[in-house]
Amino acid sequence: MKSESYRRRVGIIGWPVEHSVSPAMHNAAFEALGLRWRYERWPTPPEELAARIAGLRAAEVAGANVTVPHKQAVISHLDGIAEEARVIGAVNTIVHRDGRLVGHNTDWQGFLASLREAGFDPRGQRCAVIGAGGAARAVVYALARTGAAVAVFNRTVERAQRLVQDLKAHLPSAVLEAHGLDALVTVGEETALLVNATSLGMWPHVEGCPWPESQPLPAHLTVCDLVYNPLETRLLARARAAGCTAIDGLGMLVWQGAEAFRLWTGQMPSVERMREAALAALGG
Ligand code: NAP
Repeated sequence: MKSESYRRRVGIIGWPVEHSVSPAMHNAAFEALGLRWRYERWPTPPEELAARIAGLRAAEVAGANVTVPHKQAVISHLDGIAEEARVIGAVNTIVHRDGRLVGHNTDWQGFLASLREAGFDPRGQRCAVIGAGGAARAVVYALARTGAAVAVFNRTVERAQRLVQDLKAHLPSAVLEAHGLDALVTVGEETALLVNATSLGMWPHVEGCPWPESQPLPAHLTVCDLVYNPLETRLLARARAAGCTAIDGLGMLVWQGAEAFRLWTGQMPSVERMREAALAALGG
């Protein structure tokens, strides 16, 4: 079918986007529901972001996903922003409705759904999150909302401190701490969940691992890696070898996509169809 025969279009805005599995995932879900929608790749260098966002106002465009490096920069180009995205400070989904472009963040919901399907309940637990970028902000927000206590560890400690400060302004009762990576040695018995929200371990630098090489992972931990390419990161391989429960990044990827799909179409997609398509696109 030619693209003009589709009724509505959505796409992914990033730089680069050629490796994104979102087109495969969403197009499979559109097909499964019999929707004549199409999900496209919209590679967008920073200097073309304003023009790209202006293009979303076309009648047939229902919205977009936003990825690296535009999740923060896109905010100033939108007409409105959902409360959660404003608190997190990052937009990964734009909805075009009645001529208005509204920014949302579905990463935090995707993360919580992936924990839920893995059988981990963060409520009242102590959690350690490595990283302080856009994904970490969504994860720390999600955990804090459930009432979990969160310690954030980041290479650039000032960025972790800013994350904690920003979230505390919106969630005053949240128990949040900021540390440098060297403080990871203090993660012990009282911590139930360890999350890697850095890009360490991501293809092509698959040897990367945020956990210190000299330190064994405590066996009682549930270890979640947001990296999904590869699905079995060095951190998860070490976690499994140590006897930990391991959760890969596919669940979050699929559930954040399902929530974006629901925002655009008003319908819940087949999450299993999306998972199969994402796995196939990842070569799994
Ligand atoms: P980002 O905003 O660029 O943040 C990158 C983070 O990684 C920062 O905390 C950075 O520390 C840290 N980092 C990078 N290189 C490092 C190194 N060599 N040593 C130590 N720390 C390092 O990226 P993001 O958007 O948050 O994404 C982070 C990861 O999450 C990516 O792998 C992405 O694919 C994944 N992700 C997965 C999903 C999913 O659905 N599964 C969703 C979103 C993101 P500094 O602050 O010190 O630079």
